[in-house]
Amino acid sequence: MKVLFATSECVPFIKTGGLADVIGALAPVVREAGHDVRVILPLYTAIPQEYQKRMSHVLDFEITLGWRKQYVGIEELTLDGVIYYFVDNKYYFGRSYIYGMGGDEYERFGFFDRAVLNLLPKIDFQPDILHCNDWQTGMIPALHKIQYKHLPEYAKIKTVFTIHNLQYQGIFGIKPVQDVMELGDSLFTSDKLECFGCANYLKSGLVYADEITTVSPSYADEIQTAYYGERLDGLLRARRGQLTGVLNGIDIKVWDPEHDPALAANYSAEKPEGKAACKRALQEEMNLPVREDVPILAMVTRLSSQKGLDLVDRVLGEMMEDDLQMVVLGMGEARYFDLFSWAEQRWPDRFAVRFQMDESLSHRIYAGADMFLMPSRFEPCGLSQMISLRYGTIPVVRETGGLRDTVLSYNESNGAGNGFTFFNYNAHDMLYTVRRAEHYYRNAKDVWNTLIRRGMTGNYSWNHSAQTYLEIYSDLTGLPPTEFKPDAEPVAPLTRARKGNSKKIRVKG
Ligand code: ADP
Repeated sequence: MKVLFATSECVPFIKTGGLADVIGALAPVVREAGHDVRVILPLYTAIPQEYQKRMSHVLDFEITLGWRKQYVGIEELTLDGVIYYFVDNKYYFGRSYIYGMGGDEYERFGFFDRAVLNLLPKIDFQPDILHCNDWQTGMIPALHKIQYKHLPEYAKIKTVFTIHNLQYQGIFGIKPVQDVMELGDSLFTSDKLECFGCANYLKSGLVYADEITTVSPSYADEIQTAYYGERLDGLLRARRGQLTGVLNGIDIKVWDPEHDPALAANYSAEKPEGKAACKRALQEEMNLPVREDVPILAMVTRLSSQKGLDLVDRVLGEMMEDDLQMVVLGMGEARYFDLFSWAEQRWPDRFAVRFQMDESLSHRIYAGADMFLMPSRFEPCGLSQMISLRYGTIPVVRETGGLRDTVLSYNESNGAGNGFTFFNYNAHDMLYTVRRAEHYYRNAKDVWNTLIRRGMTGNYSWNHSAQTYLEIYSDLTGLPPTEFKPDAEPVAPLTRARKGNSKKIRVKG
């Protein structure tokens, strides 16, 4: 099969969140299974020079966006057998930021989406599957169906649209979008491109894609409800026959405590001793008292209300009455910057925060902490809890989306579980759950060590999920999916494609 991923970010070139990790890890895995996989993304100036220098020019052409003519340069770079195309246009992508600020996002990503489609007949690669991701590529399925599909070069292409986060939709005025995308008034009705009086790029992808996926089975269920549906739950219910939740994996080569070069000491489930050295090193690095007996509770997160930080705000004082150390690494909204700056002043011996994007420090936190807190209001998949599990750091999470699919609360009666969870979006439920974890940390080392071992030996690789994507592609194209060499089955409670949601069981239409 020939698969083209269209994305606005991709590791190792450019990253603001989980989307970049997902494409950067999934594409090589699908390629290893024997498929021709390519990725296309904008050529931002922020992409490191080391990669830009290695790119070679493929071709250039012009596209029209309403009355404008715009240059499209295509640069190419191959990494791990995957060909990456970069769409070059300095006016749109030669800026110091990746998203926002310019007020012309509809035009920047409208340009990108049209450039992707117009490129296809010009290169020696006609994809069977055009796999689009999040609102920035939402116009591709729409334009494909409305303006391109009748042309022979495009007739066989099937589009897949993946929701990585339903909250960000790319909502713009109808007139400006019509102006650049050349879409007539008749298309802006509520069953097509119009959405509550606006144009909505994510909705366009959801309406026109042949198949929709999202990044965990629970999130696929949740977004069909009003609470999580971000005003698109009706549409998602209507399209549930084409909606599958496929749990993300993590890049197990990057996130590997046994070989991670960022750590003070390496360790594994068989030889866990190094974790204590990582804890000491983290306490030193964060200027906290070096104490073995105190649990470190960590967060590595975007500082956004999605992540449940208002719950932390509500009970931080009570939480800090306990004998624990808290370490936070994050960037984002000013109110949480204020909260955590205040907390560091208030409890200098027990609270440490860094406001930066620091990949290397994040590795040291995952390794050095004892518990990882993730009380998200909603969580499409979440990678951090899987990384924590792999580093033997016990997750304390709210039961939502991908957190629900990856973390099972410790059950005293039968010993099952790999972390601690709470259900209601309630600060004291979270506090109680943190205290429950602290209890086992202090008073039941055998249980604690079992949980660490269970987390570290879990299977978080991409293979299982990549197989599900291949089955979806195969159903759409009629081409065989090629069998993956499967890993061992995921350790409970990982439920990569849950009953009622899985492709095979679901009812179409
Ligand atoms: P989301 O995509 O909603 O931000 P995920 O849990 O899916 O959340 O992915 C977040 C990723 O970004 C994780 O790999 C996490 O370690 C990383 N991350 C978040 N904040 C920071 C930061 N300040 N520094 C380094 N890495 C970060």
